[in-house]
Amino acid sequence: MDQETAQILFREGATMVCLDVPEGTEFGFDYSSWTAGPLFKGVKMIPPGIHFVYYSARNKQTDEVGPRTGTFINFEQKSVVVRKWNPIAEELTEDGISADDVQRIQDNLKDLDRFLGPYPYEGNGGKLHTNEQWTYNGQLLDIVESFTYLGVIFKYNCKFLETEKKLAEQGQKCLYTMLSRTKYLYLNNETMLALFETYVKSILCYGCEVWGSHKANDIDKVFMKFCKRLLGVKANCNNAMVYIELGCIPLRCVRIIRMIKYWFKILGTTNCILKSCYVNLTIDCKAKRSCSNWAAFIRSELYSIGLGELWEHQEYLVFQKHFSIIKKRIIDVHCQELYAVINNSQKCYIFSHLIDNFCMQSYLLKPIPKKFRRCITKYRLESHSLAVESGRYKNVARNERKCIFCNHNDIEDVFHFVLKCPLYNSLRSRYIKNYYVKKPSVFKLVQLLSSNNTKELCNLGKYLHYATMFRNSLL
Ligand SMILES: [Zn+2]
Repeated sequence: MDQETAQILFREGATMVCLDVPEGTEFGFDYSSWTAGPLFKGVKMIPPGIHFVYYSARNKQTDEVGPRTGTFINFEQKSVVVRKWNPIAEELTEDGISADDVQRIQDNLKDLDRFLGPYPYEGNGGKLHTNEQWTYNGQLLDIVESFTYLGVIFKYNCKFLETEKKLAEQGQKCLYTMLSRTKYLYLNNETMLALFETYVKSILCYGCEVWGSHKANDIDKVFMKFCKRLLGVKANCNNAMVYIELGCIPLRCVRIIRMIKYWFKILGTTNCILKSCYVNLTIDCKAKRSCSNWAAFIRSELYSIGLGELWEHQEYLVFQKHFSIIKKRIIDVHCQELYAVINNSQKCYIFSHLIDNFCMQSYLLKPIPKKFRRCITKYRLESHSLAVESGRYKNVARNERKCIFCNHNDIEDVFHFVLKCPLYNSLRSRYIKNYYVKKPSVFKLVQLLSSNNTKELCNLGKYLHYATMFRNSLL
């Protein structure tokens, strides 16, 4: 046992005081046992939780060890359990111990300390020793590499890669079914997202309260694929822009919120197994800063959003009051991360000026024919084939990505395409108000792309659609 674990177990651990145990009695705790010496008075630094305590009396005359008797005891944090040896029954019992006795022993625990053996702590988890065997009701238990419980695959190494792969696969299947069944219903984006939330997200996030600390890129990809399909943008379109355009938070954020909710449930649980598991996790994570168990993940998430204080005072948390604070902060922090991505990318320059609130952008909710609406999305999210983008993949320097359809010597970007290039003059005069075309500027482009006027948006969509078609026909 390392120094830090020892110190924490010393503070948080329970103590079992065993009075009058005869010398030579075999005394066991979980999977270690030893023979009681003349001064033996019990065990200290016991990790909270359920432990198996057993003993066998020794016949002094024949030196034979009697049959083993044992019992499960639930040790609460910092508690003191007192038992007394009954020489007739050869058992540890509570008989003849009054509450006053327990109190007296508790008060004088320091004097007893040197007669108490430390709990044989070996840490949790890890691979079993080759000669280790476990039995239940006399039956030898099978030792397996992984175990599926309620649909979540638990591996011996505490990794959830297989769970992730399985859920991603199931979610993908469900998504295809959903898409094929809604194909001819022409549902709007909001309804499609709501359907996804109900049928697919519930599968993708199944059991994430337990495995949510795992990265789960495959699962995030299923959601991202759906979002991009909904918007009609290319697969290589920037993810941050897609999340912001739809006003959706990443699934990772959803998983963390669900874990926090579950954490509150554990804090208030009366289930002694769940509670003692959790207490042991917190002991491990207090002892080692590098600890990576479930509780350590909750701790690091709370610290990363600036609410570490709540972790330190978790015994005073109230679900109704604190959960909403944490949830809001998690969402805010994730949104800030997304905004940071688009603010730091040159590709997202126009886009960063198009959005104000984090919600589904208003043009997506307007009655604009799908093919025109999708054109607007493509040019808002820079998911088009203009030279400024196609040059990126051909390794052409940005200032060399010129428009080849006119002699303006301009970079062929959205601004040039929508408001300047003379190639599309006739389309432009038909669909775009003169205000934008006269003295064009990036400011006016931003105004046009973020317009709230349905007719104007419809016309913009038409312009983009026909101009793209015309451009493609020339290539
Ligand atoms: Zn041009």
